[in-house]
Amino acid sequence: MSKPRYIGAHVSAAGGVENAPLNAAAIGANAFALFTKNQRQWVAKPLSSGSIDLFKQHCEENQLDPAFILPHDSYLINLGHPKREGIEKSRKAFLDEMQRCEQLGLQLLNFHPGSHLNEITEDECLKRIAESINFVLDKTKGVTAVIENTSGQGTNMGYKFEHLAQIINGVEDKSRVGVCIDTCHAYTAGYDIVDADGYSETWKKFDEIIGAEYLKGIHLNDSKKPLASRVDRHDSLGQGLMGKDFFKRFIRDDRFSAIPIVLETPDESLWEKEIEWLRSKL
Ligand SMILES: [Zn+2]
Ligand SMILES: [Zn+2]
Repeated sequence: MSKPRYIGAHVSAAGGVENAPLNAAAIGANAFALFTKNQRQWVAKPLSSGSIDLFKQHCEENQLDPAFILPHDSYLINLGHPKREGIEKSRKAFLDEMQRCEQLGLQLLNFHPGSHLNEITEDECLKRIAESINFVLDKTKGVTAVIENTSGQGTNMGYKFEHLAQIINGVEDKSRVGVCIDTCHAYTAGYDIVDADGYSETWKKFDEIIGAEYLKGIHLNDSKKPLASRVDRHDSLGQGLMGKDFFKRFIRDDRFSAIPIVLETPDESLWEKEIEWLRSKL
């Protein structure tokens, strides 16, 4: 008997954050991701106490444990922004996101590291990202900043494990920083996790370069784009270039039994089936 898995999807919070756990339960998920505010706007209304209470109530009623809820921050935020105005705006918005998580009783906040915009070096950008994390951790409690690997599109940092390790290295409170691995991003960044040997090799590298204890979540996505293409286009499980065998191997891997596994696959109508399929392969 293998251990249970915590599997869900990035569900909608339309109409209020309190709807997200209901949407997760409706697809048979025991983990989920959500935006706690509109991801395309800088400023959002504060969460009402009614909304916060209902969110917690809906999580409890559906046995959704905060340990397996992985909120995602806004796409506008760039914690490695080269300019003063840009980085200040991003840090302020990220702090607001961390505080929203605190209010909701959540433990994790997932974000993309940042982009150098061809104005500073990669090194300088990674330093800025670490400083941004220090800035928010200092002002919050109980929420871990979870850095997501990227496919390295444009000037995005985080496409190498070394980038993530370097950021963590610059964070003062190492007990509140972690990593989320997006399988589509890893593959398109050049980590051949589809190949059986590449799979073992990649996770070995993860342990050596970053450290297994920092892995706090997985985004489980297939890819429309090839290995090392540095282009980020998610596909439904088994429909992209990564293929079903990879997902079978992954879901049977006990190393991922105690962290949220979140689908960000493009066809929402398949989520329930995808979750069911993954569970059937355990
Ligand atoms: Zn993401
Ligand atoms: Zn992702």
